[in-house]
Amino acid sequence: MTVRYRPELNAISPYQPGKPIADVQRELGLERVIKLASNENPLGFSPRVREAVLQALEQANFYPDGNATLLKEKIAEKYGVAPEMVLPTCGSDEMVDLIAKTFIEPGSQVIMAEVTFPRYQITSLMMGADLQIVPMKDLGYDLGGFKEVLTPQTRLVWLCNPNNPTGSFFTRGELLDLLESVSPETLVVYDEAYYEFATHPEYPRDSIELVQKYPNMLVLRTLSKAYGLAGLRLGFTIGHPALLGLINRIRNPFNVTSLTQAAALAALDDEEFLARTVTNNNAGKEYLYGQLERLGLPYGKTEANHIMFDSRRDGQAVFQALLRRGVIIRPVGVPRYSTWLRVSIGTAEENRVFIQALEEVLAELAPLS
Ligand SMILES: *Cc1c(COP(=O)(O)O)cnc(C)c1O
Repeated sequence: MTVRYRPELNAISPYQPGKPIADVQRELGLERVIKLASNENPLGFSPRVREAVLQALEQANFYPDGNATLLKEKIAEKYGVAPEMVLPTCGSDEMVDLIAKTFIEPGSQVIMAEVTFPRYQITSLMMGADLQIVPMKDLGYDLGGFKEVLTPQTRLVWLCNPNNPTGSFFTRGELLDLLESVSPETLVVYDEAYYEFATHPEYPRDSIELVQKYPNMLVLRTLSKAYGLAGLRLGFTIGHPALLGLINRIRNPFNVTSLTQAAALAALDDEEFLARTVTNNNAGKEYLYGQLERLGLPYGKTEANHIMFDSRRDGQAVFQALLRRGVIIRPVGVPRYSTWLRVSIGTAEENRVFIQALEEVLAELAPLS
């Protein structure tokens, strides 16, 4: 193949999504497969969504509202900001991409953590960033390490709190310290995909208020995790209207479907479903902590809906052996953490099936010395 392409692509490998259940059923001839690989909501989604989507379907011959006016207003009201400070996207994935396209140019200095959401790396490299990767400290973000590589020229800093896949978090004090350390010309992207799950008292619950004080900060949220709507693709970003205005120039005009807008309007109101989700997550977290301890496996404490643990075996081999037993999780896939995997917290039953399969796999595969 001789067609020429952008040389930036040579440094990029495709994103590896969690394996779909149907693939594993087909490939391995398994009937019962559980997926704890993509941090999806094991309780489904709010029952209010179905009716809203069916109603919106009746209008599917029309283009969606490209400005998502009602949804912006709903989000603005819920979080106490002006509608001009809200921008919905096709998942926060799309926003990560749009941010990279809007703010990064070849040679821009961009900072991210070693073990975090892989899309930051792919999109930064795509735009030709000079990417600085800060190693983890005790499985968490080392914001002191971020400060050491920051310069007044730094274009963008990617932060994920609570972090995927480690589940770790940094405190409000640490966040404020970093925000004070960056130049007002540096964009701070603050991805809170797991915000709703965080329970630690030092977790910064008021990030959206911080946007008023730090206009160089964007807060990213999603309905894919706690709200259980990963398949409908809705993320939203809160930030200074001037930043959102730049991003808006390159956004696809109909990036959020009418079905998704209707679903989100219904889902955002259902506090009861959200509370049930968080309660299930907290119970699953305690169960999995106890079981990982019983099995003698190190793990990271989590503020999210997933736990990263050290299998003390090759992570790929553990992943494959679990697949054969109908349990899909995810190896972390970062060289320094080749024995670590991430499991999403499921229902009580799914967690139990996972632990039973893991115990069998640990007996089958000898630990690395
Ligand atoms: C899941 C996830 C996202 C993407 O969410 P979508 O809204 O489904 O695109 C973004 N950031 C992090 C850290 C995630 O884990």
